[in-house]
Amino acid sequence: MSRRPTNLLTVALGSVFIALVVLGLKFLAYAMTGSVALYSDALESIINVAAAIAAFIALRVAALPADANHPYGHTKAEYFSAVAEGVLIVLAALSIARAAIPDLLAPKAIDAPYTGLLVNLGATVVNVVWATLLLRTGRASRSPALLADGRHVMSDVVTSVGVLIGVVAAKLSGLAFLDPLLALLVALNILWSGWGLMRESVGGLMDAAVDGKTGSRIRTLLSEHGEGALEVHDLRTRHAGRMTFIEFHLVVPGEMTVEVAHAICDRLEDALRAEMAEVSVTIHVEPQEKAKHHGVLVL
Ligand code: ZN
Ligand code: ZN
Repeated sequence: MSRRPTNLLTVALGSVFIALVVLGLKFLAYAMTGSVALYSDALESIINVAAAIAAFIALRVAALPADANHPYGHTKAEYFSAVAEGVLIVLAALSIARAAIPDLLAPKAIDAPYTGLLVNLGATVVNVVWATLLLRTGRASRSPALLADGRHVMSDVVTSVGVLIGVVAAKLSGLAFLDPLLALLVALNILWSGWGLMRESVGGLMDAAVDGKTGSRIRTLLSEHGEGALEVHDLRTRHAGRMTFIEFHLVVPGEMTVEVAHAICDRLEDALRAEMAEVSVTIHVEPQEKAKHHGVLVL
């Protein structure tokens, strides 16, 4: 076993800790100011804690090797944590709306001390540093869970900066409705990111095919490395977390020996594996009278 998974787990656990610190700071900032916009920003941080825990669980469970009960591995575990996160996101957006709508109908002057805003700014700086580290580690180790977590934290930074600017503007201009209006915009943004997350996870649970670009890359690789074979047809692909499953029929001349056909299969598997880190390939070999004369023609 390499040390890589342990390092990723440490980073994922660090993410839970940072998210809790940021959550504490943001609620403190809300308590000091009474601003609904800062309240919505703090609620968004609860999602971050949940997301960080989900990423940690996903990395732990998804890293388990295939066993007798789960012969296809455990990589779909990531989708369950993402769906749980999506539910939390919707709940957070609803509670923001509940807090903001009465204020929007009857705006009350906010008297937010700048110290409260500074506390929120401090939490945002912590988030920027952490998101940068998550994105760097996630990219270096090709971990979708860490990358998703990093992107999520970074998108919160954007929201927080917008909220801070808005609250300061509301304070300086005396336009009290700006505060609840911003809170509602944050709620909409949270719903939007939650929708994206759910859509991706549902696609994964429904065994959606790989995206068009990856699909055509797979066909190109098969056609370039399939020398000796005649045709590839009935190509099917799906994702399970970071694992990609690829299945197809490989038509070869009927008189070809099993040994030669198997060597072609190994070559195709190696070519696919070299480009897509975690991939599981299943090939069904057929003699030429099974050719369908469509699909991928081997060059
Ligand atoms: Zn066939
Ligand atoms: Zn084999």
